[in-house]
Amino acid sequence: MSGADGASAPSRADRLAQRLPERELDALLVSDLVNLRYLTGFTGTNGLALVGADGERTFLTDFRYLDQAEAQVPAEFAQIRGKESLLEDVAPRLAGRVGFDDEHLTVKAHEQLGAAVGEGVALVAAGGLVEELRAVKEPSEIERIARAATIVDEALGALAEAGLAGRTERAVALSLERDLCERGAERESFPIIVAGGAHGALPHASPRDEPIPSGSLVIVDLGAIVEGYCSDCTRTFATGALDGEAAEVYALVLAAQERALQAVRAGAGVVEVDAVAREAIADGGHGERFGHGLGHGVGLEVHERPRLSPRGEGTLAAGNVVTVEPGVYMSGAFGVRIEDLVVVGEEGPEVLSGFPKALVTVA
Ligand code: ZN
Ligand code: ZN
Repeated sequence: MSGADGASAPSRADRLAQRLPERELDALLVSDLVNLRYLTGFTGTNGLALVGADGERTFLTDFRYLDQAEAQVPAEFAQIRGKESLLEDVAPRLAGRVGFDDEHLTVKAHEQLGAAVGEGVALVAAGGLVEELRAVKEPSEIERIARAATIVDEALGALAEAGLAGRTERAVALSLERDLCERGAERESFPIIVAGGAHGALPHASPRDEPIPSGSLVIVDLGAIVEGYCSDCTRTFATGALDGEAAEVYALVLAAQERALQAVRAGAGVVEVDAVAREAIADGGHGERFGHGLGHGVGLEVHERPRLSPRGEGTLAAGNVVTVEPGVYMSGAFGVRIEDLVVVGEEGPEVLSGFPKALVTVA
C-alpha cells in the first residue's frame, strides 16, 4: 500500500498531502484509528500520524505497539515512541495551520492538544479529508470487499439449505456468524439482523429468541470482514406460501432496487439515485414505508462515504463501493429489504452480491 519510494505511485499519505493546500492547511493530524489504518496500515489501538504539505510524515505510538508499528507502517513515516499522551507528544512538532479530526477527536482531547501546542499554531477543524480519499477504492481494496461479499453469498446459500421456519432468529444469526468465520471472514461486519414476520417491519431489528413463523417473510442482513474490509448484503426470504400483499410488496421493492441499480454510475447525484428507488416505491403506494436512505459507502467501515439519501451530498465517483438497499416496512405485518453491494463504474455498477434476488422460499 505504500508508494513511498522512487517511481511508484503516490502513497495515500502523499495524496492526502496534495489536498492540504486547498483547505489552507500546513499539516493534518490523523487520530481516528480507521483513518490511521488507511494511511499507515497500523492496526493497533493507540497511534497518531502527522502528515504535512511539506513532506512531513510522522507516526507515533506507545511502547506496546513499537514492534507492530515497525512491521506495519511504511518507511515514508518517521516513527516516534510516544509517552503517555500522543497528542502532547506530537504538540511540539506542530507549526502553522494544523488540521485535526473534529469528527472523531473528543472535546477533552482537543482541549488537551490546544493547551500543549506552541504560540502561533492554529488548530483547524478538518474532519473528513481522509474519509474523502477512502470513498474511492483502489483495486486491492475492491478485491477484499468482493471476497467479503462472496463469503456472504456462500453463507446465504448454506442458510437456504438449512432452513428458517421454526428456528429462532437468534439461532439463525449465531449460525450465520459462525459460518462467516468458517468461510474465512475475520468476523461479521455488524450485528447480524434476522427478523421474521412483523419483526421485519423494524429496519434495525435485533434477533430475538422467537421462532420464525412459516408462511412469512424474513429479513436477513449481514456482512463479513476480510483483511479489514467489510461487505453488507440483505435478502428477504419467504418461509412458505405468502398472502397476496407480501408477495406484491416484495415485487415492488425488487423492481425499485433494480431501477436504482441502473442509475448507479460515476457522476450521478446521490440524491437523484436515491430518488429513483423512492419514486418507484411511492408509485406502488408505499412511499411512507421506505423510511431510510437508499444506501451507503462500504470499506474499512460498514457505513462510510458516500451516503445515498435524500439528505446526501455530491455525486458518485468511479471506485466508490456502495449499497443499494430499498425497503418497505409494513408495521405489525412484515418488512422487505433487498440490498446489493456494488462498485460504481463510469458506465454503471459492478454488482458484488451474487445471491439470487427473485423471492426464495426456505421452509
Ligand atoms: Zn445491510
Ligand atoms: Zn447496508
